[in-house]
Amino acid sequence: MALIEIRNLSKTFGSVKAVDGVDLDINPGEFITLLGPSGSGKTTVLRMIAGFEDPDSGSIKLNGEEITHLPPYDRDVNTVFQDYALFPHMDVITNIEYGLRVKKVPKDERREKANAALAQVRLSGYESRKPSQLSGGQRQRVALARALVNRPSVLLLDEPLGALDLKLRQQMQIELKELQREVGITFIFVTHDQEEALTMSDRIAVFDKGKIQQLDKPAAIYERPMNEFVAGFVGVSNLISGEAAEKLLGKKGTYTVRPEKIRIDNQGARGTIREVEYLGPSTRFLVDLDAGVQLVVLQQNLEQSAIDVESLRGTKVALAWDKASEYKVG
Ligand code: ATP
Repeated sequence: MALIEIRNLSKTFGSVKAVDGVDLDINPGEFITLLGPSGSGKTTVLRMIAGFEDPDSGSIKLNGEEITHLPPYDRDVNTVFQDYALFPHMDVITNIEYGLRVKKVPKDERREKANAALAQVRLSGYESRKPSQLSGGQRQRVALARALVNRPSVLLLDEPLGALDLKLRQQMQIELKELQREVGITFIFVTHDQEEALTMSDRIAVFDKGKIQQLDKPAAIYERPMNEFVAGFVGVSNLISGEAAEKLLGKKGTYTVRPEKIRIDNQGARGTIREVEYLGPSTRFLVDLDAGVQLVVLQQNLEQSAIDVESLRGTKVALAWDKASEYKVG
């Protein structure tokens, strides 16, 4: 049985249909990501699960029980926000204990659980620091410990890594995923970062215009996008359609070929290199094909000659790929 069952959930703000008939089942122990561009409705779905926003219609069940209109504190869920929302005047351990104190848990038990949560996020020894004496990553860990301390069934995470710089963000992605495996709690994670979603999730729900466009495992979302929106938002779209599809692929419809599946070759679809971007481990080429489409090609820099790739701008080339890399999106 699903841990969370969302049925036909909708929410309108003024004239904006923020969430439009969303159905979603979330499994126990799952790491699921709600991914989408700004304004696609993912945060509003999260806030309705948390109880901060009241749906116009539809229902949310947790463990088989209807929670659609319950206040946040009566739901067995907890939220971690991007800005951490720690109490600045309280030290770390008091911040973590806060929820237990509100629930009138006895002092000794409180301390024991808070210490365990602190150890889980690898911050033992930081008990008496104030939030202002911590780095961004440490603050994020305290916020996590505080949310985990009373063992909710579900942890809701609203762009929790958004404020961190790239290196720390990547490190926290790994830690967060490890922590989730360790505690076995269901994580519902909101982000607009496709790479983050691909690396962390068991499943991804891709949102656009208040609707789920596709719900699947990361590799399926990337390799078998259901429509043009998903193909473009999760990765580079590289769409081939209409006359170009008939000319290049010999078939009708709209297809995508991922940049890393394309080779620069002597034979194949003829074109001209318009742009070259050297990325270190790889180089990205933008190629104008004579057939009238523009494709992005990603090549690993396996050879030393990568140093002169810039000089390839304006060169005539041919692009080749395996038939199996052509995926129909429309
Ligand atoms: P972001 O990544 O920018 O947070 P999002 O995908 O999470 O975007 P939502 O925050 O769910 O999107 O917003 C969906 C739509 O609803 C947007 O058009 C937004 O402006 C609107 N909206 C959200 N909350 C409110 C509100 N409290 N009042 C009015 N409009 C709102």
